[in-house]
Amino acid sequence: MKFCSKCGKMIAEEAIVCPFCGCQVGDVSVPETSTLGILSIIFGAMGGFVGLVLGVIGLINYKIDSNRRNCKIGIGLFCVWFVISIIICGIFIATTLRIFYGNSGNIFWVMSKYVEI
Ligand SMILES: [Zn+2]
Repeated sequence: MKFCSKCGKMIAEEAIVCPFCGCQVGDVSVPETSTLGILSIIFGAMGGFVGLVLGVIGLINYKIDSNRRNCKIGIGLFCVWFVISIIICGIFIATTLRIFYGNSGNIFWVMSKYVEI
């Protein structure tokens, strides 16, 4: 139990408004800023890991739907970049192997041999 800061009556711990005097009590919820969500989108759009981290932190802390949506967009953008970078790395590695080892280093060529068997 806690006490109303205005009228001093005993009220429930989780009360937001005092039932006796109607005044707001307890923790006045701090208005959310959309900073995390926007930063998440910016970093996510640049392919930064920070975009994912900020997005997840935002999702944990945010309660307003529009802010949560921003965080999801940020995480989504990061995921898109993550997939693209994996594909680019794969092509780069495959190309490099091919340069140094010829066809035997070409992962697609090696795979096609296995498929034939
Ligand atoms: Zn009161």
